[in-house]
Order: sequence, then C-alpha cells, then structure tokens
Amino acid sequence: MKFYSTRDKDRQHAASLKDAASEGLAPDGGLYMPESIPQVDMAEVERLAGISYSGMAAYLAKTIFSEIPEYEIERITAEAYDFPVTLREIGDGLHTLELFHGPTFAFKDFGARFMGRMMGLLNEGEDLTILTATSGDTGSAVAHGFYGVEGVKVVILYPAGKVSPLQEAQMTTLGRNITAIKIDGSFDDCQRLVKSMFNDTDLRSRKRITSANSINILRWIPQSFYYFYGYCMWKRMTGKDMPEIAVPSGNYGNLAGGMLAARMGLPIKGFVAASNANDVIPEYLQTGIYRPRPSVRTVANAMDVGAPSNYERMMAMCGDSLDDLRHEVRGFSCSDDEIRGAIAEIHDRYGYLSDPHSAVGYLATRQLGVEGFWLSTAHAAKFKEVTESATGQEAQLPPAFIDMMSKEKFFCRMSAEEDALKEYLLKI
Ligand SMILES: *Cc1c(COP(=O)(O)O)cnc(C)c1O
Repeated sequence: MKFYSTRDKDRQHAASLKDAASEGLAPDGGLYMPESIPQVDMAEVERLAGISYSGMAAYLAKTIFSEIPEYEIERITAEAYDFPVTLREIGDGLHTLELFHGPTFAFKDFGARFMGRMMGLLNEGEDLTILTATSGDTGSAVAHGFYGVEGVKVVILYPAGKVSPLQEAQMTTLGRNITAIKIDGSFDDCQRLVKSMFNDTDLRSRKRITSANSINILRWIPQSFYYFYGYCMWKRMTGKDMPEIAVPSGNYGNLAGGMLAARMGLPIKGFVAASNANDVIPEYLQTGIYRPRPSVRTVANAMDVGAPSNYERMMAMCGDSLDDLRHEVRGFSCSDDEIRGAIAEIHDRYGYLSDPHSAVGYLATRQLGVEGFWLSTAHAAKFKEVTESATGQEAQLPPAFIDMMSKEKFFCRMSAEEDALKEYLLKI
C-alpha cells in the first residue's frame, strides 16, 4: 500500500508505509491517506468479532497493510489489544461502546499501541527515538504504546505543574525505554522545543528521530477497527442494523477513523460530530464556512481543539464536497454546564458514571435522537474531579491506576532551552 498527502491531489509523491509513518505529517503539510481503500467481507468481520477483538482487528489490518506478513499482524494485534472492548447498555435501550479499558484508560490506546508495535517491526532493530510534547493524555498513550518495543526510545516532554498527578504517573512510572522530561515552562514551550529538534539538521543527521502524534497513519487507521466491533455488538444486542454513531470529537482523528470504516464497507447510517464549545466542525456543517480559531478551555479538555487537523482527511474522503459530508455527518455542540448536567443525569437515571468527553456523546445521542450508540472515550476516574463534582459520587480508580500512583516516578528536569535538550538526545 502506498500513501499520498491530502494536498497532493495529482498524486505526484507516493510514500511507503515506513516513510509515511516516520514522517507523520507529509512534507507538503497535508495528512497521509492510503492510495486505495480495501473492501472487507462483513460476514467474516461479524464472525471474527464474535470470537475476539484482536482477531477481527488482525483481519482488518491485513487488508490494509498487505505488505506486512500475516503472522506479524496477528502478533501485533494480539499484543496491542489484550484488554476488553465493551458495548454497554446503560438503560432505556441506550448503548455506548466503552473504549477506555486499555492501560491509559482512554481510546488513544487503540492507535498508540498498534503504532508502537508496527514501528518496532518496520524499524527492523535500528535505533529510533520518538520525541513528543504533551499536555497530558497523548504522552501517556504514546509512552504505554511504545513501552518495551525493541530498538525504540521514547522521550516525552511535559510542562512542570501543568499535568495532573495521574497523567504524570502514567508517563513517569514506566522506565525502560521511556524517558519523561519535565520542562520548566508551558506546553507551548515543550512544543517549540520539539519543533526545533525536528528542524535541527545537524541533530537529524546524527540521530533518527520521529514524532508519534495523533495524525500519524499508524495511529489513525486502527481507529477505524473498533467501529466494526461496535457495529457487530450493537447488531447482535438489538437485532437492528445501520446504526448512527455519535463521536466525542476534538481533532477528529476518531471520527475520521469511522469514515474510513464506512468506506471499507461498514454499513452504517452516519455519524454525529459531538463537540464541546469548540464547535468548528458543527458550525461548518451548519453554515458552510470553515473558521478555525484558537481553542477555548472546557471540562472536556482533550477535545479543546480550535483547528482540527483531520478536517483535511474528512474532506478528502468526501471528495471535497460539503454536501457529501452533510449526508454522512451531523453536527452537535454543547456547553460545560450541559456536560455537567449530562454527567449528573446519566448517574441519576442509570447509575452509570461517565467522564465529561463521553457525556458529550450521550448528550448528542439524546438530543438528536440517535438510533445507534455513542463512543465512550475515557474512564470516569480519569477526569474524576469533574465527574465527582457533577454527581457527588466518588469515581473509583481501577486497581491498575492505584498501583501506578504508588510507583516511583522517574523523570529528568530541564529548562526550556534547545541546547540542553539537544545535548541530552545525543547522549542517550
Ligand atoms: C483525544 C480525545 C478525544 C478527541 O478525539 P479526536 O480524535 O481528537 O477527535 C476525545 N476524548 C478523549 C478522552 C480524548 O483523549
């Protein structure tokens, strides 16, 4: 399979899987897309989904990554997806696909764990350093995704005092090939440092570094797999077909993964782009004007994105037609008060604890009368302050969380200066 940038309309520059995955963003600033989208056999998907998530994911991954030996794909999906994926009925015929049972308790594990193992394989034992800046969640998903992958070192920069104790524990207690660097500065400083390392030709000639950000094809493509699984479980539980799926969204990698699934042959009615106050995409669907802007802070902060990168992928999949996009995706947005209200309502009516991001999916489902399910993107305990204040109920941490919080933290502390970071990277 070859990959092309969304901006390379005449398909002048094909990239191999390894190049597209190492580059992340295409050199022209666009996002990589597969040159063609394979069709899957839904009867086979349903059969495999009835046995295991990882087996179903292996079948789907083999259709796209046909250059990788099948036994390697089977090993990778078995290792990456060793946790449950659950379609839960919370009551009143309402269903949600829980994507938060992985090691960092958020759906980003699905992409990051697949990518980590695929990079390990594509890299063939050469030394590679993954360098990434995080404001919290991405760093922990990447750290856990690459943990123990041979030949790959991960360096994560995070701003001192600006990530939650839980997020810090998720990045700093692993050790082995994962190094966390606590920067005396802001998240923007961390991003600036990472950018300047990637622009440093001297460093790059001496060291292989790459990013692992969420637009990477190896994180994006596996985010199409769980839509198939959710569909199979929903069909089996309800006897219905053609669900609509509400997707709590920020940078739209998740929803664009669903659109990819639909093009592989998943029979669904469409999607709801469920956003918080950062409503660039719902507004675009409504007005036809795309107006990216600085993000505003909300209680569902992993969705605080004002210029969603995957907009380009969504448009590419719709042949740049707004009408086509409107046929496939409905928009929804809500305020922080509505999110808090939804968390309380879900708790009071159904005795179920929801995190603020997933609650946006619930609200969209309720208010738009969605016949289908919403995606739950994080465990309630991960954002316990919000959930607890809305419900008055304590969000129990899963045992793995408690274990992790008590482990010793390893990190280096650094000022926000290029030279210090460069020296450090050359040393490890
Ligand atoms: C990243 C994230 C989202 C947003 O996903 P996108 O792919 O960026 O739209 C939603 N919820 C949680 C918990 C997240 O971590």
